[in-house]
Amino acid sequence: MTPAATEPDDDNSVKMMDYFMQLEYREPLCPVVRRYADQLLEGRLIGHQCPSCGLVYLPPRGYCPICVVETTDADETVLSDRGTVTNYTVVTPVQYYGQHETEPFVRASVTLDGGNATMNLQDLVDVPVDEVRVGMRVAAVWKPKGERSVADISNRSWGSAEGCIDGWRPTGEPDAPAEQFLGKATF
Ligand SMILES: [Zn+2]
Repeated sequence: MTPAATEPDDDNSVKMMDYFMQLEYREPLCPVVRRYADQLLEGRLIGHQCPSCGLVYLPPRGYCPICVVETTDADETVLSDRGTVTNYTVVTPVQYYGQHETEPFVRASVTLDGGNATMNLQDLVDVPVDEVRVGMRVAAVWKPKGERSVADISNRSWGSAEGCIDGWRPTGEPDAPAEQFLGKATF
């Protein structure tokens, strides 16, 4: 028996049409991420240090997923904007739509001085791709205060700061021994 909905003159029959649409989601930042974003605009990197295990989370999450304990403003710590390259990837861009890079570039993990907090997928500046190495000492290149933006930060950001930091520039200091970072970087 043929269902009535398949009859071509039935008002309930399935009809298809093509059209363009755009959805824009606006999501308020939760207080702990809002605080991180506001501090970025001031040129400060902050994290939360777990009161139980001592690991530092950047951006602060409001909890330590390892110890399953809450972290609060009392656990906030200001982090150094200098650090060491602890991992990197050389990306050879494929010219897909929207790809603006044309030459190989690096995305690096930078473990900040004084702890385990690590920023991933960071740009390096003023250093040729073939000179990047684990252990290289770098410092953040902050955008001028009036040009900083936190528009790209969401509640699910992984420590993004690209609206406020242009990248990381080698300091010229001697390399840090790579071995000292093995197994220590968290994010
Ligand atoms: Zn912990």
